[in-house]
Amino acid sequence: MPQQSPYQIDIPATDILSYVYPEGKEPYDKPIWIDADDTENSLSPKQALGWIKRLGLGLENLNIGWDEVVMMFSTNHIFCPVAYLGVAGSGRIFSGCNPAYTVKEIAFQITNTGAKIILVDPSLLNNLLKAADQVKFPRDKIFLFLDKPCKAQQGVKDWSSFLPTQEAAESWRWHRMSAEESGSTTAVLNYSSGTTGLPKGVKVAHQNIIANVCQSLYMRELSQSYPGNQKPPERFLGFLPLYHAYGQLWSITAAAVTQTPCYYMRAFNFEPFLSHIQRHRITHIQTAPPVLVMLAKRPETKKYDLSSLVNILCGAAPLSKELQNEVSTKFSLKVVQTWGMTEVTCSCLHVPGGMDDRSGSVGLVDPNSTIKLIDESGNEVTKPGQRGEIFVRGPNVRYWKNESATKASFDSDGFLKTGDVAIYDEEGWFWIVDRAKEIFKVNGFQVAPAELEAVLLENDDIADAAVCALNKDHEDLPRAYVVLKETAKGKVSEKDVVEWIATKVAKHKKLSGGVKFIDEVPKSPSGKIQRVVLREWAKRDADQG
Ligand code: AMP
Repeated sequence: MPQQSPYQIDIPATDILSYVYPEGKEPYDKPIWIDADDTENSLSPKQALGWIKRLGLGLENLNIGWDEVVMMFSTNHIFCPVAYLGVAGSGRIFSGCNPAYTVKEIAFQITNTGAKIILVDPSLLNNLLKAADQVKFPRDKIFLFLDKPCKAQQGVKDWSSFLPTQEAAESWRWHRMSAEESGSTTAVLNYSSGTTGLPKGVKVAHQNIIANVCQSLYMRELSQSYPGNQKPPERFLGFLPLYHAYGQLWSITAAAVTQTPCYYMRAFNFEPFLSHIQRHRITHIQTAPPVLVMLAKRPETKKYDLSSLVNILCGAAPLSKELQNEVSTKFSLKVVQTWGMTEVTCSCLHVPGGMDDRSGSVGLVDPNSTIKLIDESGNEVTKPGQRGEIFVRGPNVRYWKNESATKASFDSDGFLKTGDVAIYDEEGWFWIVDRAKEIFKVNGFQVAPAELEAVLLENDDIADAAVCALNKDHEDLPRAYVVLKETAKGKVSEKDVVEWIATKVAKHKKLSGGVKFIDEVPKSPSGKIQRVVLREWAKRDADQG
């Protein structure tokens, strides 16, 4: 039985800027995006609008066309919402790049997005320039981007160099989109590997973002109405990275439309995170399981008053029932799960409260959406408790930039195949029980085996390689099975391979699950890596310690 959401909501059919700044309504003028270290450094939506207009007109002056990509390569700061809303709201496409990326990974995203200009945090400039040189991206299309003016460095000017004055931009207006335009115009290009292969751009339309914010907020309001949960004045802590859909949804758009102050951390570090919760009396955080592990286990939590926290929304990777309960009990708060993926803008399932007897669940289907589970033989699951891959349809579900990947990802009824395996109960609550896809998560970030395999094959000593997750203490770690060339045997060690790849990929993709030399990568007659065999090997290796 397809599980249709019990809830139907109205979703404004417009563009992202008109959603955040509705016509005829005076913009909110209290700080919403606030620097957690220096609270004087903040932006209200009204102040941000002045900058958004300058950016919109500035991009026009640079001849960046409708539908062209502006890439942001930055840590979190209070001007990131200006870039996100200004780029997308003025009809261009925003694409954020992970600040942890290596030169090779940045170069891939520059080329793959076809970016026309890049906004770069000065602390990340060196790697960006190396990547730009590699793919011959012009230097005069790169601009320093921070929450304060910067002097030009290595020939790269500050972004204010192309912004018109506030007065000049005052009369600039964005195009308020029709329902049809908002459904077909891409606002954001976020990267994900899907169920298989290399990272690909997901073309998220204006309408998808608005739908997903409305869906998430609706489920959250249901959660707030749970008996005993009084609604306090809320404050968010903005540490989720803003290049990722999860950070964009909560720390930018949801914060703006609910007028919730969001204190931005440039990057996540555990002790500053605790001290900001105490100092700013944070009530809600949105996060992933590794942060819950720290909250449960690390002794530093005792040094801080975390009593303001009432709710933790946890998604992005599997969360065990034990960990969820441990954190709820230890801090007397509610931990609620959400499930989603970049391809559905951000989320599709949320726990709406009343979860005491259902912990471990990722909740009910979001409004206006339907989920069906398809079993291994390709048949739809008909009874509660039966396992099947999640197939989802809803106003937040998106297409790939890559047409063949899009075709392969949808069934004939327009449901997206997600690669996550779940069960549901009689009342439509879902639990994630397994994964039927290659990608896995480390610290909440995607690791695509195909990407690491391609990097390993660049090594002159390696003849073949296959990568999978090794699960240790409830965490997935990337592990490689490597076939050495004859000439390298006896000369190259497993440790050499681990150290070599550490210089080539972002931290979460390092081979922290180790390397094992083998004689042959298990492949099907058609040459496809047999990932089921790899998973068995990794399980055996984990059991043997
Ligand atoms: P991303 O596109 O980076 O958001 O990654 C999406 C993937 O993260 C999903 O397909 C799942 O495999 C995983 N994921 C997200 N939320 C959860 C959750 N609550 N439980 C288990 N896995 C999750």
